[in-house]
Amino acid sequence: MLEKYTAFLLDVDGVLVRDNLVIPGAGEALEALRRRGRIMLLTNNSTRSRSMTADHLRSLGLPISPEEVMTSSHVAARYLLERYGPCRVWVLGEAGLAEELIQAGHRLVNPEEAEWIVAGMDRDLTYRKLAQALRGLLNGARFLATNRDATFPTPDGLMPGAGAVVGALEGMGFPPEKVVGKPSAVAFHVALEAAGASPRQALMVGDRLETDVLGAQRVGMDTALVLSGVSQEEDIGRLGIRPTWVARDLEALSRGELRSP
Ligand SMILES: [Mg+2]
Repeated sequence: MLEKYTAFLLDVDGVLVRDNLVIPGAGEALEALRRRGRIMLLTNNSTRSRSMTADHLRSLGLPISPEEVMTSSHVAARYLLERYGPCRVWVLGEAGLAEELIQAGHRLVNPEEAEWIVAGMDRDLTYRKLAQALRGLLNGARFLATNRDATFPTPDGLMPGAGAVVGALEGMGFPPEKVVGKPSAVAFHVALEAAGASPRQALMVGDRLETDVLGAQRVGMDTALVLSGVSQEEDIGRLGIRPTWVARDLEALSRGELRSP
């Protein structure tokens, strides 16, 4: 059943990693999938750049190259560059987001000079930073969000995600003009392009129906829900989001143990 796919887009949390540990069998599964086609990890985590994500996964024991990673931080940087060219930006987010924006050719400036406020998850969010963002937005800056995941899984339980940051700006009267991470089509198109695959040739593997599966379906990809993370099989009917395939985990998927839900 995997024969038709030449590329595999894989979510990270709940698919490869859980509680900062590699999910058993995930490393071997990656190897098996690489023999079938191209691997591209697609994560909404905006706190890291592509190379930081690869370094992090290697430190956990998963051999991943930066070319096999797509983050919402990079998707945001690419989105701005392709549509508007190099921009003056102010970042409400962490180092990985700033790194990707700079690498893409954008310039980090004060909020007052910014054409865009780019916001992602920020574990050092303060009232002062919100005031700075407001300064920029009142000055006419546009607002791009990396993603709006409500929560973020950690070994200590769920923590506030990028949605908390985006919601704070929204609460000041400024909803984002664009959100580029999953389930936005932008994230999938950028990841597919990096993988050199068309939507028909690629399989999206994820653990969240409402982001990984829904978003991939919107761009015409087949999808596989793995049950090693957030969504469980009973959620399929409840949410009305039906993936092409269900597998116990990535290891089972890589061995072709898939079934129609
Ligand atoms: Mg996930």
